[in-house]
Amino acid sequence: MPETMKAFRLIEWERPPELVEVPVPDPGPGEVVLKVGGAGACHSDLHIMEWPEGQMPWKTPFTLGHENAGWVAKVGAGVEGFAEGDAVIAYGPWGCGQCRACRLSEENYCERQDEIGSLGGGLGLDGGMAEYMLVPSPRLLVPLGDLDPRDAAPLTDAALTPYHAIKRSLHLLVPGSTAVVIGVGGLGHLAVQILKALSGARIVAVDLAADKRELAREAGADEAFEPGDEAIEAVRELTGGRGAELVLDMVGAGQTIALAQQVARVKGDLTLVGLGGGSLEYGWFTMPYECEVASTYWGSGIELMEVLDLARSGAIRVEQERASLDDAAETYERLSRGEIRGRAVVCPNG
Ligand code: NAD
Ligand code: ZN
Ligand code: ZN
Repeated sequence: MPETMKAFRLIEWERPPELVEVPVPDPGPGEVVLKVGGAGACHSDLHIMEWPEGQMPWKTPFTLGHENAGWVAKVGAGVEGFAEGDAVIAYGPWGCGQCRACRLSEENYCERQDEIGSLGGGLGLDGGMAEYMLVPSPRLLVPLGDLDPRDAAPLTDAALTPYHAIKRSLHLLVPGSTAVVIGVGGLGHLAVQILKALSGARIVAVDLAADKRELAREAGADEAFEPGDEAIEAVRELTGGRGAELVLDMVGAGQTIALAQQVARVKGDLTLVGLGGGSLEYGWFTMPYECEVASTYWGSGIELMEVLDLARSGAIRVEQERASLDDAAETYERLSRGEIRGRAVVCPNG
């Protein structure tokens, strides 16, 4: 392995990330270094780039990229079960590995996250937008088998996050039911495919952009609408006036939360995934009766394995474009302008 490498790093809060030269990590005991195949460019990184200092208890600088897959490059002392060259995907939320949640494979809800002070590689620690990446434990790696790490990388967030959000509502999504997906970007186009694969629900997509509505239809949505009164009317009509069993808000802006509230049904689920900064006006007069509201964060390690099996079966596929590490900054600019179809994946090693 070389001694230094290029990495796309957040140097300071509220300052655009930069491509800089840093040392290649060397694995300590129990650690693994990956040669990065792909690192997905998630919209959360755009939020991170805007957050002021103090929003998160993370120290700068750190390398971005929390949606990572690659090949094992070097293992530290005591690591068993992985060898150089193995294709692996990294589970992204790095918990303590020992609390009750972590032992249930739900490191996304680690009980010691506050003490740890970071959420994982790319989220306070060095992530995958570099040629190599340190993973602190083999517990966080899942073998990819014959899936290419560049194709697979977004599965660990853009697919895992909606998979978890959908799975908790599956009991509602019987044939004849309706699921609404608001925002058909990286996460949303996979949400549509996961709904199609797992449930009997009619799928209604909502997005501001015509090309994203088109992508939604290609991904399996039965209907696709612009946000607004027409979408609300259409959902009412399609559901005999009842509303949707599940509304997944992948944007999380005030407007989309209000829309979600208006298309959800009595005894339905309103699930908030997007970090758009909006909030819900919750009151006796504003919600359908017994409609359950939840925000979700990422998914469990076991769910990641289920997502990989779904991808292997061909039921879900990441619509993606690849970029080089040199183009990382431009890729995020294009993401912020809504110009990415599906997910952009930065491939630092070509
Ligand atoms: P993206 O940029 O790929 O997609 C966003 C989509 O929403 C685009 O198609 C855009 O046209 C559409 N959109 C934007 N505003 C809209 C509006 N007002 N009405 C309808 N559609 C609108 O983003 P992404 O990477 O899929 O991430 C989506 C959101 O989910 C982000 O806020 C991100 O931070 C968040 N996220 C949350 C989790 C979690 O665990 N909760 C995990 C990953 C990402
Ligand atoms: Zn993400
Ligand atoms: Zn834990």
